[in-house]
Amino acid sequence: MPLDRAALDAKYASARPTQWGMDLAGVARHVEDRSAPTVALTFDACGGPHADGIDAALIDLLRREQLPATLFLNARWVEANPTLAHDFAHDPQFEIGNHGTRHVPLSVTGRSAYGITGTTSVDEVVDEVWTNHVLLSELTGRPPRWFRSGTAHYDEVATSIVADLGELPVGFVVNGDAGATFTPAQVRHEVAGPATAGGAVVIMHMIRPSGGTAEGLTAALPTLRARGTRFVTLSGGGGATTG
Ligand SMILES: [Zn+2]
Repeated sequence: MPLDRAALDAKYASARPTQWGMDLAGVARHVEDRSAPTVALTFDACGGPHADGIDAALIDLLRREQLPATLFLNARWVEANPTLAHDFAHDPQFEIGNHGTRHVPLSVTGRSAYGITGTTSVDEVVDEVWTNHVLLSELTGRPPRWFRSGTAHYDEVATSIVADLGELPVGFVVNGDAGATFTPAQVRHEVAGPATAGGAVVIMHMIRPSGGTAEGLTAALPTLRARGTRFVTLSGGGGATTG
């Protein structure tokens, strides 16, 4: 799909957002398959200082337990980890999503989240999505379908622009690791909880080997397995959906 920046500038020239947050109407939080056992695990690779590492124990766990997952890769992380990025992009167990170029909240007015200033214009929203869109298209051989902004915050003009660029903004139902800051017990509590079902998207992180994510997910697995949980990528679950 070619980028028509002038058309987007014209379309949104007078747009003024009134919404801000993680749970806007245009943000997908489930997959299409909402049967009780279905769960979509997603892992963000945020990139940048202190966030361009890899939790190798987590990746080993996903592979050993054959847990399909969607990996949201930021452009900075891909550039810092070219070999791993190529490896994940060509592993059919994983689907690759777009986690932005600079890893900033997606706003047309410079709103911020957690002290991180967001994009400030239509052009900056397009840059944040499209630079990594092109990078990931080259990496995987196909355009990414799913987008998650840095901090997962959006305004509703920005979510509409993402859709115009051929991607769907994806949020989450279950916050599994709070940016890889949870202890293993906290991760287990959230991920094994009742909300991890019915096509829910679960957000975790794959960048902090010292975090509690891998140990907590390991501890949650027996409960999830006992429930008959079926793990899917976003596309494997019929696609992420806002409906
Ligand atoms: Zn992130």
